[in-house]
Amino acid sequence: MTGDVFVVVGAGQAGIQVCNSLRNSGFSGQLILVGDEAILPYQRPPLSKSFLLGDIDEQRLLFRPQSHFEKQSIELLLGTKVIAIDRSSRTISLECGRTLNYTKLALTTGTRVRLLDCEGAVNTQVHYIRSLNDSIALRNKLAEVERVAIIGGGFVGLEVAAVTRKLGKAVTVYEAEDRLMGRVVSSMLSEFYSDLHRENGVSLCLGERIDKVEVCDNTVQIYTNKQHSLDCDIIVAGIGAIANEEIALEAGLSCDRGIIVDNRCLTTDPDIVAAGDCTVHYNQFAGKTVRLESVQNAVDQAKVAASTMLSGDLVYEQVPWFWSDQYDAKLQIAGINTDYDKYLTAGRVGDNRFSIFYFKDDCLIGADSINDPSCHMAVRKIMTTKSASMTQIQENLDDLKSFAKQ
Ligand SMILES: Cc1cc2nc3c(=O)[nH]c(=O)nc-3n(C[C@H](O)[C@H](O)[C@H](O)COP(=O)(O)OP(=O)(O)OC[C@H]3O[C@@H](n4cnc5c(N)ncnc54)[C@H](O)[C@@H]3O)c2cc1C
Repeated sequence: MTGDVFVVVGAGQAGIQVCNSLRNSGFSGQLILVGDEAILPYQRPPLSKSFLLGDIDEQRLLFRPQSHFEKQSIELLLGTKVIAIDRSSRTISLECGRTLNYTKLALTTGTRVRLLDCEGAVNTQVHYIRSLNDSIALRNKLAEVERVAIIGGGFVGLEVAAVTRKLGKAVTVYEAEDRLMGRVVSSMLSEFYSDLHRENGVSLCLGERIDKVEVCDNTVQIYTNKQHSLDCDIIVAGIGAIANEEIALEAGLSCDRGIIVDNRCLTTDPDIVAAGDCTVHYNQFAGKTVRLESVQNAVDQAKVAASTMLSGDLVYEQVPWFWSDQYDAKLQIAGINTDYDKYLTAGRVGDNRFSIFYFKDDCLIGADSINDPSCHMAVRKIMTTKSASMTQIQENLDDLKSFAKQ
């Protein structure tokens, strides 16, 4: 093991977790973390929440200080991109001209934003949020403008809408589907969020797509498929993300809108693992192949990937979970709740504290909780340890925590 060189490509949530798990498991060989961003690895969730609002500063985003990497002998190569993998010689090429040998390789390259592709979309008034720099640029811009159009009613777009309203700006959200967050939440929850945003002064345009953007004397004009137009100062687009799979694809690894991995996070090369947003995997809780974009998936897959690099036997079988903060509603999602046939609501929507449980074939497949963290935790535990019917959940609503432990 001491002569081994393990290289991790992508210094984000999954990349840092792979490195930490390797060292925590006693790996004592050379460990190199390569990242194309020129800053220490940082958390992304606050970029559309507290950081954008100005509640926390850059230092709070960092996973670990520089000294951590030194202490752990993790060699950081930041601000340089990996441009190619040569599997036959087990080397990778960096944009800066260097070549690195590896014994084992981990790909944790994440995603990049999907760009708006309508007429006129390429201009400096259109913002996106994926990186710290994106969030800083938007934060600075928000201080100067009054009217913000948000394209995309998914998590990122809606979190930005909530922050922007808190900053007192006029906000219009355009969502091409007929409901908010339609890909990932139930229609009941979409409705709750539509009401929440409208109550907070957001103008919501559902089922409306942007066809054209024009900039004239610092005013951005938006034209939609419904022949509506809007004048605003900036656009923030949150219309999804694309997996950074190109170097894997070019190296001949199997990819399908993400790097395909098995439950040990192994790619189609036994010396290469992958973890996080850049991967697709068969998920037992979803009952299908998925690409998840969440901290949970990045962290848990990274732990498994590190174990696999060390020939360990960890497998990825964690209940998926996710959270989103908008105004005073903290949403926690357990499971993948799109393919249900029955549901049960506990608590009152009007009290801003409730959970919706989802069932398929009378088996609990997950729950969405609003300001109800104990329920969220109990559901995750239940889903990890047993199968529960709707009747069982109903009968144990008063003490799900104890039911989870039974
Ligand atoms: C604004 C925002 C808000 C979010 N909010 C939440 C939330 O509330 N809850 C939640 O669970 N999740 C949230 N997420 C998602 C979460 O941040 C991601 O799931 C998580 O960061 C994924 O980690 P990762 O390591 O797979 O990818 P990333 O964190 O994206 O890291 C990948 C890194 O690899 C680098 N890279 C890519 N290609 C190369 C290359 N060829 N060479 C070198 N480096 C490369 C990238 O630049 C990046 O630094 C949010 C994401 C965003 C953008």
